[in-house]
Amino acid sequence: MLRLRFGCQFAILVLLFATPEAQASSKPSEAELAAITARGVLLAEYDTAAWQATDTVQAAHPVEGRVGRYIARKTDAGWVVAFGRLNEAGNKFLLAYEAVQTANAAQFEVRSFDPVREDTSWNLAAAKAIETAMRDLGGTSRPYNIAVLPTDHENMYVYLYPAQNQGQTQNQQTAENVKPWDFRKNVVDLLRAKNGCSDWFNTGTGSAADIMSNVRITLFDPKGPIPDADARTSEDPHAPIDVNSKGRFYANSDNQLRVGDKYKPGSTGAREVILLHELAHKMQLIPHDGLDVRQSEKNTRTVIEHCADAIGP
Ligand SMILES: [Zn+2]
Repeated sequence: MLRLRFGCQFAILVLLFATPEAQASSKPSEAELAAITARGVLLAEYDTAAWQATDTVQAAHPVEGRVGRYIARKTDAGWVVAFGRLNEAGNKFLLAYEAVQTANAAQFEVRSFDPVREDTSWNLAAAKAIETAMRDLGGTSRPYNIAVLPTDHENMYVYLYPAQNQGQTQNQQTAENVKPWDFRKNVVDLLRAKNGCSDWFNTGTGSAADIMSNVRITLFDPKGPIPDADARTSEDPHAPIDVNSKGRFYANSDNQLRVGDKYKPGSTGAREVILLHELAHKMQLIPHDGLDVRQSEKNTRTVIEHCADAIGP
């Protein structure tokens, strides 16, 4: 459900359903030009509504896995942004959250549906159109934002446009030029200093600073479309800590949720927490989490609870 903010002047239009008028002549009529302008205005509104709604839903701590997509729609009462995903059969959109614009246009109210609400109308059609457009676009090396606008002909336009990649535009801190092992010293220094974090680590099995000084730290590229953990390791103190090149160690992570709700992907705090989380497994300070996203998130919060003061904002 993560999206990035961007300027829509770089929009690339994927036109799924061209209107008959548009195909007949290469020269757009006045009416077509007016319609294009109107869609441009709507698209800008869509973008604003989508990021404001996303911020509101994120603040409400969405459960991972329930949300794959957001779909915004302008109603007479304002913008409504649906968050959810297609079911396995692809014949229902499973609505998990709905953000509704309030009288103050910049504010959204979030409704949560548990169990999910099944939608077989606009959201289903839009989600399926998005899947088709994404398949058409193929694999990309950067994130895209998506918008769906209705046409007058009961069809829809799907827009896919490159999202501004905050990590790359601001500091180029990608896996190509920032290596996780360069942060070893940060973490070792933190553990050798006297603070609540080092106190906590010292209650574990062995010397945290020594293990962190010697452990091998590697970088891995995740396989497949399912986002992998930010890092992984085993409880064996000699086993390496493997950091995901597409995880939240980097600002251009596929996952843009803050680490433990606190540290922005790619920030020093996020990087330290990711390494400390793995180290905490080796010290047996947190339970095994493997593929259990919920437990992993819990473990991250435990690390932050003890280490936030030492790490800083
Ligand atoms: Zn873990």
